[in-house]
Amino acid sequence: MASRHSLPAEVARVLRAEVGFGCAICGNPIIEYHHIIPWAERNHFEAEHMVAVCRNHHHELGKQKRNVAYTAKQNPINIRYKRFKGYLVTSRDNQGILLGNSKFINVENAITYYEIPLFGHRIIDGEIRLKCFIPDANFFPEVEVHDNKIQAMIDGFWDIEFKQNYIKFRRKKGEVFLSMDFRKDDVEVNGAFLIGGEEYSFSPKHCEFGGQRFEGITIQGNGKGTGIAHGDGRNRLLRPNYAMVDPRPRLVPR
Ligand SMILES: [Zn+2]
Repeated sequence: MASRHSLPAEVARVLRAEVGFGCAICGNPIIEYHHIIPWAERNHFEAEHMVAVCRNHHHELGKQKRNVAYTAKQNPINIRYKRFKGYLVTSRDNQGILLGNSKFINVENAITYYEIPLFGHRIIDGEIRLKCFIPDANFFPEVEVHDNKIQAMIDGFWDIEFKQNYIKFRRKKGEVFLSMDFRKDDVEVNGAFLIGGEEYSFSPKHCEFGGQRFEGITIQGNGKGTGIAHGDGRNRLLRPNYAMVDPRPRLVPR
């Protein structure tokens, strides 16, 4: 017999995507699935009569008239702002970051692209704070993590799964654009994306970017500096910003 807790995975994903992967009301990325037409009234998993909300708002909606839930479903906050926001909780056991199968311990900038840090971390109060910058083709941030605080553009993501100490972005079914996992000894980062038209790809079996492969290397730093610098050594990339008349990335001499 169907239970109210056996929500089919695809219905859950549709409900997450519909609200921009955060509570329809407040954007909190830790979500539950609310039956607007209550399970007790009719056993169903109909996406059109359910909405993804945080625990607090789930509780709140249970006490409200149904139209409040339908209204929230029609105008979710993350969709309005086109942004996903979240915060990754670390474990004290995290030693370093594992990009694919290559390990970076105490390296502020594990990988840079024309001097722009793409991944790295620092230690605050004995815990790792992750840094990550994945730009779109125009070098505006698509996914950005600053001291574990995540901001992502939601356009183009088929799914974002968030579990407090774990996040996985997918552009389509069966592929992983980016995942960041704090549940083991090292923070594990995997994914496949383009930066400046070049392929970056990390998995437990390989670590590749800009046509270079790094197999199972370990780089230990002193909390500062750069692990692997990708670029021509002569130029740095200037990120665009909206204050520019013609916002686009530019290479400028170092
Ligand atoms: Zn909420």
